[in-house]
Amino acid sequence: MITLITTEIKEALIHLVGTENYDDSKVSKLVYSYDATPQYQSMPAAVVAPRNKEEVAEIVKLCNTHYIPIIPRGSGTNLCAGTCPTEGGIVLLFKHFNSILEIDEENLTVTVEPGVITLDMIKAVEAKGLFYPPDPSSMKISTIGGNINENSGGLRGLKYGVTRDYVLALEVVLPSGEIIHTGGKLAKDVAGYDLTRLFVGAEGTLGIVTQATLKLVPMPAFKMTMLALYHDLESAANSVSKIIANKIIPTTLEFLDQATLKVVEEYAQIGLPTDVSAVLLIEQDGPMEVVQEDMKKLASICQQEQAVSVNVAESEEEADSLRTARRSALSAMARLKPTTILEDATVPRSEIAKMVVSINEIADKYEVNICTFGHAGDGNLHPTCLTDARDEEEIKRVEKAFEDIFIRAVELGGTITGEHGVGMMKAPYLHLKLGDAGINAMQAIKQSLDPNNIMNPAKIFAKDTRKRVVVTK
Ligand SMILES: Cc1cc2nc3c(=O)[nH]c(=O)nc-3n(C[C@H](O)[C@H](O)[C@H](O)COP(=O)(O)OP(=O)(O)OC[C@H]3O[C@@H](n4cnc5c(N)ncnc54)[C@H](O)[C@@H]3O)c2cc1C
Repeated sequence: MITLITTEIKEALIHLVGTENYDDSKVSKLVYSYDATPQYQSMPAAVVAPRNKEEVAEIVKLCNTHYIPIIPRGSGTNLCAGTCPTEGGIVLLFKHFNSILEIDEENLTVTVEPGVITLDMIKAVEAKGLFYPPDPSSMKISTIGGNINENSGGLRGLKYGVTRDYVLALEVVLPSGEIIHTGGKLAKDVAGYDLTRLFVGAEGTLGIVTQATLKLVPMPAFKMTMLALYHDLESAANSVSKIIANKIIPTTLEFLDQATLKVVEEYAQIGLPTDVSAVLLIEQDGPMEVVQEDMKKLASICQQEQAVSVNVAESEEEADSLRTARRSALSAMARLKPTTILEDATVPRSEIAKMVVSINEIADKYEVNICTFGHAGDGNLHPTCLTDARDEEEIKRVEKAFEDIFIRAVELGGTITGEHGVGMMKAPYLHLKLGDAGINAMQAIKQSLDPNNIMNPAKIFAKDTRKRVVVTK
């Protein structure tokens, strides 16, 4: 349904934000009709860029009165159709919310506006010898507001956790237009429900984040990077479980299968091996002696698990090119076929080997082309299908394959998404993880905060429950 914005509402919005921040031209509507997720394109009624939180609050009140959907949008890099305006309404941009407000070296916090680019903030705190660990591969373009709302992870998630673990305080405009402040620069705070955590990962469905205070940690003194090569996928996957079972938590423990390696090497041209079945990219940081000791143990575990070779990067440049190559996996694949569908089924680490085998069997069963890479140490795999959305018959097989992958992940004690969120894309699968009672509990929260369903509607909860995927044995 495309929500109509009457002349009166348009004038009220322009009065609030100024003509230069209201755009309902065809070009802009087209630009903001899609995000990084294929197949969910839909036109908004207008694109609005408020200049401050007071304007955000007034926009929200107006939209709430007239039942106009609001789709908050950072850089649109989400992979769950989280910013596609499938119910029409206005796309809300944060281009004026791009300031790093404070780096507090006494409390080890950074306070930012939601439109700040993740890497810009990381560089700003690193210049002061501080460290913000969450590093989604999209960090060169993603925004902090988007990271918070997707609860994004990254290569360093295994040791340091995900965005949620660093959000201390939020300023949020509620769907009623009221502005609340959750949390604070506090190491401890148990005053009532943990509203900060409620808004992290809420995918723009509960309110609009207008400011965030994030935790920083001291910069690790030293780091080392290693590449372990394998002739079979299972040995690589087994190494992951064995490393954790040996009580070593590396900073990074990434997995790439041969298909991914070939594509990434063709793109990055850094001399990655393409004649092996899988590699693990392993990184450790901390005090020099600890890192060196851990790297010896890690190399030995990989060798015991039949790694054909284990190579430590000799310089930071070499290490950085390995990390950059891994981060470019999705972009590298996206060049090969018209449509790239990347998923993030996640299982307990101990089940990685079984999940990798299952993904390959499922790809064979449906005759689809799936490359797999991901944050193996987190159990978070990215089976990625290279396909063509114009081929309806193939797309049906791709959908069936992903359905089977989600079902298998849940069977193994996992989840349908480890870091990309539910959005529109995974809404039909949410009950596989939560069951009806779990979904009802979440809907009760949504209903109480946003009774008119104006905040990013049709995301997280499947609009038509008949379209839910059911498991048939
Ligand atoms: C190449 C590539 C690599 C990626 N790598 C990773 C990765 O390593 N790890 C990972 O976890 N994810 C990754 N992602 C997906 C990830 O979700 C996003 O990159 C990132 O978190 C989204 O940031 P964004 O600014 O683009 O937000 P958007 O996509 O614009 O928005 C994301 C969600 O946040 C909401 N939102 C945005 N701003 C606000 C706000 N101020 N208030 C309320 N809601 C808001 C939106 O409504 C939407 O639901 C990757 C994506 C791409 C394309």
